[in-house]
Amino acid sequence: MNNTALEPSFRQSVDIMFNRAVALMELPPGMVEKIRVCNATYTVRFGVRLRGGIQTFTGYRAVHSEHMEPVKGGIRYAGNVNQDEVEALAALMTYKCALVQTPFGGSKGGLAIDPRDYNEEELERITRRFAYELIKRDLIHPSQNVPAPDMGTGAREMAWIADQYRRMNTTDINARACVTGKPLNAGGIAGRVEATGRGVQYALREFFRYKEDVAKAGLSGKLEGKRVVVQGLGNVGYHAAKFLAEEDGCRVTCIIERDGAISSETGLDVEAVRQHIVSTGGVKDFPGADYNADGAKGLEVECDILIPAALEGVINLTNAESVKAPLIIEAANGPITAGADEILRKRGAVIIPDMYANAGGVTVSYFEWVKNLSHIRFGRMERRQEEARHQLLVEELEKVQTQGGNNLVLSENFKKQYLHGAGELELVRSGLDDTMREAYQSMQAVWHERGDVNDLRTAAYLVSIQRVAASYSSMGL
Ligand code: GLU
Repeated sequence: MNNTALEPSFRQSVDIMFNRAVALMELPPGMVEKIRVCNATYTVRFGVRLRGGIQTFTGYRAVHSEHMEPVKGGIRYAGNVNQDEVEALAALMTYKCALVQTPFGGSKGGLAIDPRDYNEEELERITRRFAYELIKRDLIHPSQNVPAPDMGTGAREMAWIADQYRRMNTTDINARACVTGKPLNAGGIAGRVEATGRGVQYALREFFRYKEDVAKAGLSGKLEGKRVVVQGLGNVGYHAAKFLAEEDGCRVTCIIERDGAISSETGLDVEAVRQHIVSTGGVKDFPGADYNADGAKGLEVECDILIPAALEGVINLTNAESVKAPLIIEAANGPITAGADEILRKRGAVIIPDMYANAGGVTVSYFEWVKNLSHIRFGRMERRQEEARHQLLVEELEKVQTQGGNNLVLSENFKKQYLHGAGELELVRSGLDDTMREAYQSMQAVWHERGDVNDLRTAAYLVSIQRVAASYSSMGL
């Protein structure tokens, strides 16, 4: 039997990690089972008239835990979406929301299609039809269930969903809060697109503030100069890698994509690689880099920080022994299987777990939801925001002066922030930073203080399960 045959499913893998944590807790009888199970999964098959015929699609929305409502979690479009996967992802949403204290239960949805097989107009029709099915059953609703983008979806799909909800609920003043991750002009919030990547950056910054934690990974010194390998240059991986390279002085030495891996010891220009992918469809032939068609080998190269930011289960029993990174931050959901997790822990690697590492997305989703429900424009109105905006202007002018230019050349980043609602973006960023720091410290306290907890994942589970259990108890369960 080969190793993969021994590997449990994604949902079982999440359960194994959950069970490891609850074994260290004292919970009321029956509570463990109540928290662990997925409350309900709705499966829908619907037809859409396309290209002269009718095509049938299969979609899911799993609700893991309703200890708080609405429940929250993205909608994924991918060919292999299935019930086991959405249930695992919904469970992770429960623990993630509890860990970063966004007041939501956990949910996740998916549609089994490869979005690259359809044009925009077709995707809109499919999305609206899927949304119709979910809205009809209150599986999309501002106070019941609030989706967001995930793999294969983005602001465009969320705008279609929001519009579909509005059409079906014309008198609901809170209609916009039925989904997050919308475009700015459709009730979205500044900074949501890059929020998950930004959260990965803030998580790493926080980790590197603690010498003893850095030492546990066998590393030393600052985040600056660290060699980073990133798998997946989608929304999350792209933003995380870009911010780490451009703002924290990290060296992105390897990027793994669908068609292979590229590497360069001196560091890759993330923005240029992204442009190369957009224009050629892959990383192959990126100038000045070594290319390996076997992308998975990139996970095994020497580096300081490995960022799996693509699919679940990419580090598994077949390759865990060969993964050399001392520090792995799970930007994707579930990139390390339970078996691989054990191998890596035994080897002494530090893993910053998904439920914390990628919580930036849902954190900013929460800000967007609150903004929609409160019907105010964030930022601008507050004195603090006006001051922040003023500060931004002063800093930019100082930068321009120190560069010694006679012509005033303002950076694009500055223009974007200053002209388009710096107030809101500042508010979102500082709120996200506070959230990531606080959540790290809550995990860290358990990691440091409990002799029976040797890893951050178990610590994260302990914190979040305790909070979910407390909610259920106060509901009278
Ligand atoms: N899909 C993202 C996640 O896995 C975001 C969920 C949300 O914003 O509700 O966390």
